Amino acid sequence: MINDLDQSYQAFFDPKRPDSKRPKIKQKISDNGSYLDTQAHIKDGKIFPTTNVKMSNRKLYTGGIKCSEAISDLNDKNKRYRMRFIHRDHKYYAAISVKRPVKSLMATGQWDGVDVNVDHFNSTNRVVWLSKQPLYDRKLGKVVYPKTRMARLYDKIAHYQRALAKKRECVIRHAKKNKQKIDRRLWQTKNYQKVQLKLRQCYLKVDHIQHDIVQKYTNYLVKYHDRLYIEDLDVEHLKMGIASKGLHRSLFGYFRQTLAYKCRLFGRELVVVHNKYPSTQVCPNCGFAKAGNNKITLSGNQKHHTKHNEFKCYHCGYTADRDAKVPASLIRYSADSMSEIMKRQKLGQDYQVLGI
Ligand SMILES: [Zn+2]
Repeated sequence: MINDLDQSYQAFFDPKRPDSKRPKIKQKISDNGSYLDTQAHIKDGKIFPTTNVKMSNRKLYTGGIKCSEAISDLNDKNKRYRMRFIHRDHKYYAAISVKRPVKSLMATGQWDGVDVNVDHFNSTNRVVWLSKQPLYDRKLGKVVYPKTRMARLYDKIAHYQRALAKKRECVIRHAKKNKQKIDRRLWQTKNYQKVQLKLRQCYLKVDHIQHDIVQKYTNYLVKYHDRLYIEDLDVEHLKMGIASKGLHRSLFGYFRQTLAYKCRLFGRELVVVHNKYPSTQVCPNCGFAKAGNNKITLSGNQKHHTKHNEFKCYHCGYTADRDAKVPASLIRYSADSMSEIMKRQKLGQDYQVLGI
């Protein structure tokens, strides 16, 4: 065991690590990897990985690793940390898990709901676009929807994946014809590896963009709101996406996870709205929900002749865009009223949503 740990330590920190299989082209990603140390400790703001006295050949970093960030508040000679060293983009990072006390932010008195859509996150004052962003084109005099950088990267990914699949198919067909043994080495040519590398670069970029979007957006939400409502991300939502299903699936989970931990960390309240809650049908102004014939559907409303994106309340006359008012409707949710709502939905008559 100690031998294994030592070997992986040596391999991880060795700058001359052999990597002969890598194609020789201009490289934007360094060889990423990580190494887990469960017994590291911190002294004078420096990290000391596990030392093994018997192995004399380990000379690297015995004086401790200096960090660019101040970690002196973690100084504890006797405490052992579970630390993961990560090598990424020519830099080394150390991830330390530490329990921190809950920080409290100032109460703002604001509540907000977040509606997670296939191509955008929607809250009362901020909409974050994922695949297509509306822009006003002055020349054309109307709003156009150019693709975002992330969507363009996904196009690239699809292109590279097709190219790789084509190459594999071609080689396999050729091998079958010549009754050769099918081996992955047959198609692992230099060109194939170049495309593979480009593909990996695209994935990495997408990863960074997604991270950026979610972190900034959740920061905003947590900073300015005491209580946040999000919908339970059910399969119904994911079914809506036809082409972009794979595109956003991982982002949804990541968003919810990040928001949940930030709410916990900063003492904000996170309410997960029941997935049967009719957020589209509820009027944020008077709290009446539409049912039966009055419902707004994807093709509008037949009975009242409204369009698919037009929300009109038949009780108080409130009008709004169908998607834009969802966050305001989410705020009206309370878990106690769910059984009543489901009963009323079956009756097919408009009903008052309890709550605030
Ligand atoms: Zn109303």
